[in-house]
Amino acid sequence: MKQRTLSIIKPDGVRKNLIGEVIKRFEQNGLTPIAMKMLHLTKAEAEGFYAVHKGKPFFESLTTFMSSGPIVVMILEGENAIDLNRTLMGATNPSEADEGTIRRQYADNIEQNIVHGSDAPETAATEIAYFFNALEVCPRP
Ligand code: ADP
Ligand code: MG
Repeated sequence: MKQRTLSIIKPDGVRKNLIGEVIKRFEQNGLTPIAMKMLHLTKAEAEGFYAVHKGKPFFESLTTFMSSGPIVVMILEGENAIDLNRTLMGATNPSEADEGTIRRQYADNIEQNIVHGSDAPETAATEIAYFFNALEVCPRP
């Protein structure tokens, strides 16, 4: 089933000059970017995006990290895009991520793990709407 998911290259991924590398993996594995922008989130905007994690011990540090520099936000479209993206990303903790995944190869630790990807259709829809309006989405024919 053709799906859409939200992907973020986090501040560590941008700082490590991995924008091209990450997008190349998506394009070569059937995930097509149909919307894209670079942003520098405020702390409040990062807190809004990660509201589901409010109250967790890592929330303060996570939102400080996510507002520490520019990010690249994308909508990816493809067959089973949500699960496929998470497979390419690897587990949250890079030390537990499969060989060859983005996080295993590039992430420093469980917090600074290079990429975000939506985890379900409902969260994908909410996260896409957090960053993009209809005019900014450019589906391929
Ligand atoms: P994922 O990004 O794999 O969906 P979660 O939704 O559980 O993972 O967590 C969101 C983000 O919060 C993670 O990508 C990571 O940046 C951070 N995070 C998750 N768990 C921890 C933790 N135990 N300590 C520090 N940061 C964490
Ligand atoms: Mg998550």
